[in-house]
Amino acid sequence: MLGGMQDFELRVPRLVEHAEREHGSREIVTRWADGSETRTDWAGVGRDARRLAQALERMGVRPGDRVATLAMNHARHLITWYGAIGMGGILHTINPRLFEDQLAFIANHAEDKVLLYDKAFQPIVDRMRDRWTTIEHYIVYDSDGPDSFEAVIGREDGAYRWVEGDEREPCMLCYTSGTTGNPKGVLYTHRSSVIHALAEMQPSVFDLSASSVALPVVPMFHAVGWGLPFAAPAAGLKFVLSAVNEAKVLCGLMNRERVTHSAGVPTVWFAMFQHMDETGEAPRHLQVVTIGGSAAPRSMIERIMKMGIRVNHAWGMTETSPIGTIGARPPDWDDLTFDQQVDYLCRQGRVPFGVEMRVVDEDGNTLPRDGVSSGRLQVRGPWIVKRYFKDDSGDALTPDGWFDTGDVSVIHPDGTMQITDRAKDVIKSGGEWISSVELENCAVGCPGVAEAAAIGVHHPKWDERPLLLVVRKQGSTVTADEIIAHLERHVAKWWLPDEIEFVDSLPHTAAGKLLKAQIREQYKDFKLA
Ligand code: ADP
Repeated sequence: MLGGMQDFELRVPRLVEHAEREHGSREIVTRWADGSETRTDWAGVGRDARRLAQALERMGVRPGDRVATLAMNHARHLITWYGAIGMGGILHTINPRLFEDQLAFIANHAEDKVLLYDKAFQPIVDRMRDRWTTIEHYIVYDSDGPDSFEAVIGREDGAYRWVEGDEREPCMLCYTSGTTGNPKGVLYTHRSSVIHALAEMQPSVFDLSASSVALPVVPMFHAVGWGLPFAAPAAGLKFVLSAVNEAKVLCGLMNRERVTHSAGVPTVWFAMFQHMDETGEAPRHLQVVTIGGSAAPRSMIERIMKMGIRVNHAWGMTETSPIGTIGARPPDWDDLTFDQQVDYLCRQGRVPFGVEMRVVDEDGNTLPRDGVSSGRLQVRGPWIVKRYFKDDSGDALTPDGWFDTGDVSVIHPDGTMQITDRAKDVIKSGGEWISSVELENCAVGCPGVAEAAAIGVHHPKWDERPLLLVVRKQGSTVTADEIIAHLERHVAKWWLPDEIEFVDSLPHTAAGKLLKAQIREQYKDFKLA
């Protein structure tokens, strides 16, 4: 027997339709790379997305075809998400900072038919055009020519009805950056994206509502822009997008537009602190800051909390849409001391309804939630990947249906999860594991340290020992001994790095995470003294 309720396919265009109808005049603000600012609203996004859908159909794009973007965060990029998906296409956001071979691989593997891109990435397009074998149409977001975005949509009237279909059809494709081997494509469905958007609005997740003003610092090309471009119209919030990620620009924008919610990787907040220290200017209206993508260091959590801002520490990955866990507060939050609150937020939070997690040992046995048993973190749920795009080798799941994240973690008795490391980043010393993440987080809590990376280097006796690379804060003369003395207070003695090297900078991914694989490669022949 079936139930008596309406069939209402959970399709992505319904998100923007809702925002158009119920929050049509809520603004979408863009700060462009050239310093100019433009405004549209949800009604405008819906209208222009329909015009783009018409234009794509006119070019011969058919439902199921891939429409790619190579772009920073701005309203035209947002319109493209809804236009491409609304006409039944599959939006493929390309990360412009990938290496050329990866750029060639993913566009060809995805069989992208159209590419919409920022003029700033013209050099990439010029270099890659011959290697991209399937792209037939190129549209520039910010130019005046006949191939410009405005010219293309300007020829259409917007009288268009979204393509209907099954909620399990694909709507979007995102490749993981692939630190080993070729990047892998995660093919999201309308259903997974809508359910994820609904979950993301919850107070115990991103806490989004119609009264929020959200500015995602995470790029829209990275892990679905953390789902914010889908959750924003569902909430009907005011959306502020910046095509540049400089702290000075972001801080000014946050204050002018009264931004209440923001989200980004730790590097973003480090840069914001530096800006605050140099100028005395700070974001004044922020209420909730979500930090994820890599572990949020304790010192960062403390500083943001002292600004009177709620910190949300989130864990997730491209394969998890990306919300996996997030720092939902317990009911006795106000009874905790400041230090206890910080302890809590140093963990990566708990799963919202929709994600199930477990930690398993090497043989796949589920470990107890005791806060000490550490093993591989596995997850399952309606917005978790099942099979990578075009992967004929089968599902990316364990025989009993869980996705192995490649992260190593513990689960505490209260349900909070704590990442101890990435399986491939753990430093294996004498058969025991040293968490590179914890060493790095402790190191950046030492005055004078701007950033740190811990990697395992070969050791004849212990197999691997930690090497700590440190970028000093401007003007700082902090020494290796001072850093060791600081670390000694926080980690076991055998965890202490055998050596500390000072460097001018460390390499990052497009999303601002440390490029551990590259650092390991660079130091693979390093000889400990
Ligand atoms: P990549 O970093 O490979 O480009 P993702 O953006 O999908 O791909 O990154 C997912 C990974 O980032 C996770 O598997 C985890 O290792 C790391 N990560 C994400 N959030 C956190 C966090 N809050 N703390 C520690 N690690 C995190």
